[in-house]
Amino acid sequence: MNINVVIVGHVDHGKSTLIGRLLYDSESIKEGKLAEIQKLAEEYKKRFEFAYFLDAFEDELREVRTIDTTGVMFKSKNHYMITDVPGHKEFIKNMLTGASYADVAVLVVSCSQGVEEQTKRHTFLINMLGIKKIIVGVNKMDEVGYKKERFDEVKAQVSKLLDSFDFSNVSYIPISAMQGDNIYKGSEKINWYNGPTLIEALDKIKVERKERLLRFVVQGTYQINSEKVAVGKVESGILKKEDELIFQPSGVRGKVEKIKVFEGEKSIAEEKDSVGIIFKKDLKRGDVGGLLNAPPLSTTEFLGEAVLLSDALQNGDSLQLKCGTAKVDVKIDQIKEKIDSETGKLIEKNPKKINKGDAAIIHFSTQPLVVEKFSEIPELGRFVLVKNERNIGAGVVLDV
Ligand code: GDP
Repeated sequence: MNINVVIVGHVDHGKSTLIGRLLYDSESIKEGKLAEIQKLAEEYKKRFEFAYFLDAFEDELREVRTIDTTGVMFKSKNHYMITDVPGHKEFIKNMLTGASYADVAVLVVSCSQGVEEQTKRHTFLINMLGIKKIIVGVNKMDEVGYKKERFDEVKAQVSKLLDSFDFSNVSYIPISAMQGDNIYKGSEKINWYNGPTLIEALDKIKVERKERLLRFVVQGTYQINSEKVAVGKVESGILKKEDELIFQPSGVRGKVEKIKVFEGEKSIAEEKDSVGIIFKKDLKRGDVGGLLNAPPLSTTEFLGEAVLLSDALQNGDSLQLKCGTAKVDVKIDQIKEKIDSETGKLIEKNPKKINKGDAAIIHFSTQPLVVEKFSEIPELGRFVLVKNERNIGAGVVLDV
């Protein structure tokens, strides 16, 4: 089974080191690369630093990322894909590229530092993104002499934080990403702990994959020779030649005559495939197609939860919103709740205004637009807020 993992936590608590360790211990690294990195590490008379090693991989990863925004892969019982970290700065970027979708989050907390600001913010974000499974890696156990007392203190801090949210079955694992304790291999130095290692905890995860409705998102249309081609992406479900589709918001209906790809034609396009379809009617960027029995719906209002990363917003403000390939004018109808983005707790009901850094539940009115609940089709359930051509915040659709 393929499982998407996101690794979050405060800066310097050991996320990159952990990713490096997972790749190393799972033997996902190519031989040559490893030797090269070890040589470099020796040259610098450093200890073998996994964080360092991950940077060396950056270029290789970047190439993959431009095609598919998800990052690196490693294998055990399941296949794991590590997706980008939704740090506050990267949050908008992730919202745009779709990297924020993950089945499970690994929250890395340094045992010497304990809970810090980003530990809280990341927890808030993963909760908002609907990621319910979380594993806490209490890292740098080597720095605290592998002491159970300190682990228990940090565990209590983290569980106090997580209690404000709605996570199920959280496991706490004492680890050292640097030394490799309790990642793939158990640890004799942590003999007071008899729970699973990190990989065992991951391998136990089961994710239900429901078959999803077809949503074909149009990026643009072209006239090629005598044919009208609408180029787009199958964001969810399966698209077949001869399918009868309806597109919204334009309300156009018709048959998929051909599915075109660079190499020729296809009879089926699957989730995440980018294809061109030959469709006799006029479509435009922002249109979303689906089957007649489960069509996408065009709406002029919806309820969303957003985090504001710059500027301020108040009731009645006009701005723009990007969702899928659509970019439309929207209005803040009503800010319903202002929420603490560190704890997820309600701060104020019906506030007039929210400021940079605030999270809020907002009722939007919009030009006709297709959105879906984030919990059902996340690809069409996340949006970015734009003001004066700047991305000022991002959010998810709670209800349509
Ligand atoms: P990130 O910012 O969360 O990605 O953190 P890094 O992975 O870059 O790690 C920050 C620093 O902590 C680096 O110097 C790492 O070598 C160090 N570090 C990471 N994990 C451990 C660990 O388990 N034990 C110790 N002693 N140091 C660690």
